[in-house]
Amino acid sequence: MNVFDRYPSGGRTLLGKPRNLTGACRTGYGLGLQLLTGETSCAYCGVSLVDTYHHWLLMSIDHLVPSGEARRVGIAPQFSEDAINLVLCCAGCNGFGNRYRTTIEPRPIWSLEQFLSLRDQVFEDRFARIAGRRAVEMAFFESKPWARAAIR
Ligand SMILES: [Zn+2]
Repeated sequence: MNVFDRYPSGGRTLLGKPRNLTGACRTGYGLGLQLLTGETSCAYCGVSLVDTYHHWLLMSIDHLVPSGEARRVGIAPQFSEDAINLVLCCAGCNGFGNRYRTTIEPRPIWSLEQFLSLRDQVFEDRFARIAGRRAVEMAFFESKPWARAAIR
């Protein structure tokens, strides 16, 4: 079970590019993705991005197969820019997943099925990596380093 199972058609048919209403995430393409998929929470940690104003401010979008990688290996923008290659996430998880590199071999032609299996693999890898980084960060937070500094 991953986030795409909740997308229309289980995230296995093209949904189109999210409408870019304003050029910004929360009021533009992020909102467009919410309207296309019905998703309103972070795909990695599950925090709601609509329950409070401060959570809404964290809204971000993650490209699973990055646009540059897609170009490099011959994946059509019709696939890589579609909502099925995008997930809603919080700014924290998006930061934990930065500098992700894939080792995808170029192919002359990518079928939708081949692209989807790559996307699912990338999501699984990122999900695990982000969960690991989040656990480290949470342990640091829970040690209340700011309180130690005040006592010293
Ligand atoms: Zn998150």
